[in-house]
Amino acid sequence: MPYAYDDQNIFAKILRGEIPAKPVFESEHTLAFPDISPKKKAHVLVIPKGPYRCYDHFVQAASDAEQLDFFKSVAKVAELMGVAESAGGEGFRLITNSGAHSHQEVPHFHVHLLGGEPCGPLVCD
Ligand code: AMP
Repeated sequence: MPYAYDDQNIFAKILRGEIPAKPVFESEHTLAFPDISPKKKAHVLVIPKGPYRCYDHFVQAASDAEQLDFFKSVAKVAELMGVAESAGGEGFRLITNSGAHSHQEVPHFHVHLLGGEPCGPLVCD
């Protein structure tokens, strides 16, 4: 079944400038901004600018240039946030939710980049 993309989701509105966000990083294909409800001292969302619903949709449908740009941008954001070891940080966690079982709330592919303090167990029951 093809992935349907709802362009009325919150991140699509941020990309169109209809909802404010303060970018911490932007590249040709990628945007990063703070999560509105941070779960750790550092909590940034990294999203592609293209209309992809989730990780698997992104990998199937995005161009190589978009995918390379996205994953390099995630690393760049970890450096800018000072959580990457290369920036003297103590590490970080990446989370991406895909679909109903993951409890994905916003149907636009995004990676949560969390750090600045210990992240705890991998998952909770
Ligand atoms: P997920 O459950 O993986 O889809 O996560 C969606 C995330 O988007 C949550 O952590 C929300 O706090 C965050 N979020 C929702 N609206 C906004 C917004 N306007 N700006 C920044 N983050 C948001």
